[in-house]
Amino acid sequence: MDIKKLQQFLDENGLPKFRLGQIQKAIFTDGVFSFGEITTLSKELREKMEKELRLLSFEIEKVLTAKDGQSIKALLKLHSGDLIETVLISPKPGIWSACISCQVGCAMGCRFCATGKMGFKRDLTAEEITDQILFWKQYLKKNSSDLFENCELKIENCDVNNIVYMGMGEPFNNWKEVSESIKILTDEKLFGFGSRSISVSTSGIAEGIERMANEFPQVNLAISLHFASNEKRNRFMPINKKDNLENLRDALKKYFTITKRKVFLEYIMLDGINDTALDAKLLADFIYSIGNTHLLHMNLIRYNMTSEELKPSSKTRTQLFKQELEKHNINATIRKSLGEEIEAACGQLAGK
Ligand code: SAH
Ligand code: SF4
Repeated sequence: MDIKKLQQFLDENGLPKFRLGQIQKAIFTDGVFSFGEITTLSKELREKMEKELRLLSFEIEKVLTAKDGQSIKALLKLHSGDLIETVLISPKPGIWSACISCQVGCAMGCRFCATGKMGFKRDLTAEEITDQILFWKQYLKKNSSDLFENCELKIENCDVNNIVYMGMGEPFNNWKEVSESIKILTDEKLFGFGSRSISVSTSGIAEGIERMANEFPQVNLAISLHFASNEKRNRFMPINKKDNLENLRDALKKYFTITKRKVFLEYIMLDGINDTALDAKLLADFIYSIGNTHLLHMNLIRYNMTSEELKPSSKTRTQLFKQELEKHNINATIRKSLGEEIEAACGQLAGK
């Protein structure tokens, strides 16, 4: 929903201020599917809105639900014709996290990532970014009875709780629109999410990390570290040639001088590549070099196969890696891989 256009429409039609609040509540809180549903407005006005405004900036091309009902992926067709993806995951019953895209494709070219393989097409607008949340709110409202047929959840709890910028694209390469989208998502009069329920994930753009600390100190930060040696990180993540591990360490040190929020370090487990005891030792050394280790949380993530070149580490190897880290007094969480059957890793569907 283009908020500026809505405001302009109300001004042009000489409507009183309180109408804006009423309409915004219907759209962003109640998740109406059409302007026609806002029955507090006159029929003529609703019809005019249907003609001149649009709720979503894309068409829904496909929705795939995993058998366990814990992850749902949507392929969206933007008016430009480009395809993007968004995923809704339920990490625990009654909690929904929406994973959203901020670009069509991505310029960073990480070798393990399907989006990276597509290359960069264009930045999304703040409207296209926040509409993904609007879509999931509407979807949950509409499908709650089917989704929860077999569980004892209260249907009225069925709403998006958390937002992660972990879909397609690198948030700090489109900061103008991403920062605008965070403002819309946290605006009390619009979506009204708490900053702490939003997380931004970056492949490690040092300048962006500092910006986040200054502009959104309460929004969570996740860093896709994946490798603890420059030699390996260079090979799989071209960004490392610009911002290597030392730059990342310095950016994180600065981050912690501004905000004392926990930072998540993401580490995909690649068989025989970054999962040895030596890799664990290098990782522990890197974490200690940053300092504030109590604020750094390691997530070990299962790799979703996107090519034959790389394989995910086995459960045993992942467990051993976690134990190696523990020997160095570093705790890590092994993240359950949700939605592999619907190809929930970013870019796996749109890139086809
Ligand atoms: N561009 C940002 C955010 C989007 S990617 C970033 O890189 O952080 C979201 C996360 O998915 C990143 O941690 C990324 O490294 C990870 N990822 C990419 N491809 C993956 C795959 N095939 N399996 C598992 N995780 C993957
Ligand atoms: Fe881009 Fe993130 Fe994929 Fe790397 S992992 S190519 S930064 S979307």
